[in-house]
Amino acid sequence: MRYHRIPDETVRRLPVYLRGAIHLSRQGVENVSSSELATMLGVNAWQIRKDFSYFGDFGTPGVGYELKILIKHINKILRLNTGHKAALVGVGNLGSALLSFPGFAAYGFDIAATFDIDKRKVGRRKNSILIEDVSRLRNLRRRGIYLGIIAVPAKASQEIAEMLVKAGVRGILNFSPRYIAVPKRVKVITIDIAMDLARLPYYMPSS
Ligand code: NAD
Repeated sequence: MRYHRIPDETVRRLPVYLRGAIHLSRQGVENVSSSELATMLGVNAWQIRKDFSYFGDFGTPGVGYELKILIKHINKILRLNTGHKAALVGVGNLGSALLSFPGFAAYGFDIAATFDIDKRKVGRRKNSILIEDVSRLRNLRRRGIYLGIIAVPAKASQEIAEMLVKAGVRGILNFSPRYIAVPKRVKVITIDIAMDLARLPYYMPSS
């Protein structure tokens, strides 16, 4: 099936729908209506119907969406059906937590290589993954790695991003609190918990 160009906002919501659909499917549910899914995920049913309309008219009135097909579509759109290996740079507090997190596997992600500059860490294993010297961060293509995760201090993040791009990475998940510049062909997504926290008080009623 060919998919139309899907807006970024819809792409942003697809993993949320996927998580809900996988959860229901694991409970033995076969079909779900947009309003059931909306209630479960705390989103708008109209929004769900609009988002799903981008990948074909496969919902049945009165029955809803077949979960197996829904999961298949979303996995295909997000290209999660092939599995993805990632290289993690910076095995400190955050990097170690990411390495221990079992939740990436559900979406086909595998942290397959880790790098650090600290000689005390290099050569050790964390969660059975060898920590390599950052100077060995090259030719990740050869290892089938096209995704990079940056968990180094902000001052090192641009340099690491450039090394990752040179090594063949096409997507970067950046945890450092700094804008990093990369060529257009490379997608960067920056995650910053502090930025989300900074928005929260605005929505809180004053006491
Ligand atoms: P940390 O000091 O515990 O770990 C940083 C690691 O990076 C260390 O192991 C260090 O040796 C390594 N490192 C430093 N320079 C390097 C280089 N040039 N090449 C390779 N490795 C290098 O720090 P942390 O608490 O794990 O935080 C890491 C980054 O994540 C920081 O930029 C921090 O601001 C950010 N952070 C983001 C969030 C978020 O919500 N996005 C949350 C916590 C931390």
